[in-house]
Amino acid sequence: MIFISKAKSRVQGKKVRGFSLVRCEQCDSEVEMRNDHWKKAKSCKNCVNKTHGDSNTRLFKIWQGMISRVRYKPKTYADINMSMDDEWKANFLSFKKWATDNGYKDNLTIERMENHIGYHPCNCIWATSSEQQNNKREIQSNNTSGYKGVSKQGNKWRAGKTINKKSICFGLYNTKEEAIESYKENTK
Ligand SMILES: [Zn+2]
Repeated sequence: MIFISKAKSRVQGKKVRGFSLVRCEQCDSEVEMRNDHWKKAKSCKNCVNKTHGDSNTRLFKIWQGMISRVRYKPKTYADINMSMDDEWKANFLSFKKWATDNGYKDNLTIERMENHIGYHPCNCIWATSSEQQNNKREIQSNNTSGYKGVSKQGNKWRAGKTINKKSICFGLYNTKEEAIESYKENTK
């Protein structure tokens, strides 16, 4: 939580409690919280409810790390334009669903296939750190299929396009042909 300003004290029971206006680092909303609460809190109540008790998991920490990279703490020049899928950003569970559907394991890290696209379902895979290096090399030398909008992503084929640095993903497919079909359908 990030402190913004002091808020009005309130009487709760018989005690006067100090309150502050603080910003939740996860959802970016401004909320008033009791002084003795917000300093210990990792997020606002809404966010706590959304995580359904997952806030101590590794996956949750990965999600938080992504959010802080895109919002608050650009570590490198590339981070400045880093973007993240709106649904992922708004809701941990949406990211969690994608992660479990796409082979998340505790020894894997999230990898962006193309750095400039950012954290989007169609641009990310789970990989070990040595796989990451290989993928980066592969994508530099051999990421295209010969067809516009279709590229290899891990062991799948991705159809999509980039508009104003925002990655639009049509889907991930098992075969190149399916991905080409999808690109044609979606760009008619
Ligand atoms: Zn929040």
